Amino acid sequence: MSVKRKIVLEGITKRFPGVTVIDNMDLEIVDRDFTTLLGPSGCGKTTTLRIIAGLEEPDAGEIWIDDRLVFSARRGVNVPASERNLGMIFQSYALWPHMTVFRNVAFGLEGKMAKDEIIQRVQQSLANVQMAEYVQRYPSELSGGQQQRVALARMLAAQPEILLMDEPLSNLDAKLRMQMRAELKRMHNDLDVTVVYVTHDQEEALTLSTKVAVMNNGVIEQYDAPSQVYKNPASLFVADFMGNPQMNFLKVTSSVKDGGSELRFATGESLQVQKPVKPGSFLLGVRPEDLRICTEPVSQGLRGKVYAVLPAGSSVIIYASIGDQDIIVREERDTVVHIDQDVWITFDENYINVYDEVSERLVS
Ligand code: ADP
Ligand code: MG
Repeated sequence: MSVKRKIVLEGITKRFPGVTVIDNMDLEIVDRDFTTLLGPSGCGKTTTLRIIAGLEEPDAGEIWIDDRLVFSARRGVNVPASERNLGMIFQSYALWPHMTVFRNVAFGLEGKMAKDEIIQRVQQSLANVQMAEYVQRYPSELSGGQQQRVALARMLAAQPEILLMDEPLSNLDAKLRMQMRAELKRMHNDLDVTVVYVTHDQEEALTLSTKVAVMNNGVIEQYDAPSQVYKNPASLFVADFMGNPQMNFLKVTSSVKDGGSELRFATGESLQVQKPVKPGSFLLGVRPEDLRICTEPVSQGLRGKVYAVLPAGSSVIIYASIGDQDIIVREERDTVVHIDQDVWITFDENYINVYDEVSERLVS
């Protein structure tokens, strides 16, 4: 099956006085993808979205939407935002204060379709965000979260093919945010839309997206399926940014052994793995939930000492030390270990990543 390219960015660069905010970015978003731009505050997510929308003009590069060139610095093309057929919702989701919820949602549809259809669309999109009973209220009579949901409904009502969303759930409390994620996911399944979504919240990116672009300082460090970004982070930055508690990094020295590799830790203990790792010094990255704690010595287990035990409801987070390195293990909730207890920590080869200390890239 051929995939249709919906949005293509090529060599996009954006400078503000004294800083390069987006640095020669390439990005290809396929039709019906839910792509999330994820990264820390200030990395350029909003700027990228505004560039796609046509609200910010890049200094270099080209943009295609539906195979139509909408921006080219070189060729002097810049299709205005209003002609790019996009639906947008930004962090500041200004509703008209003098209009009811109904009119706020209906406003963009008026004159474009029959009255009955407008009423039907407004009701449906408000129902999608669980705001159907608020149609007659004014924005000042709603909480921030409710206003945000009305803004979402307003965007959905227009039924655009591309939705650009900048942290649209940021004003909601945790419970409602989870519910709205389910609604967004459902909407993406039910409607024929391509979504470009911005968040700094890794969990939001993992739960919603078909593709995640992890950004750092105006550069995309990895563009992959969420499961890949989580399981095989392409760089130390991505590895460290994704996951809570964060991934462990342990210094190892590798050598070729028995058709695989031997990874020797600073303590002198070593781990035998099948995967090829060229000889040298590396950082072994492993997530807390991919380690197991044993209270008796086991082969291929690293000896450690429990430093602190943090029960976390569905699991227990155990801080331990291996020589002079700290390691975090997430264990099943019934695990019983005590401070200062000797433990043996085991690895699963399928869930370890090896990083080059200098290039900071994944090597195996
Ligand atoms: P994010 O959405 O990832 O938090 P932004 O895209 O909003 O990041 O901003 C990226 C960088 O660009 C920040 O350092 C920000 O201060 C800077 N920036 C954004 N807009 C402007 C502007 N209009 N003038 C100058 N600097 C800007
Ligand atoms: Mg932003």
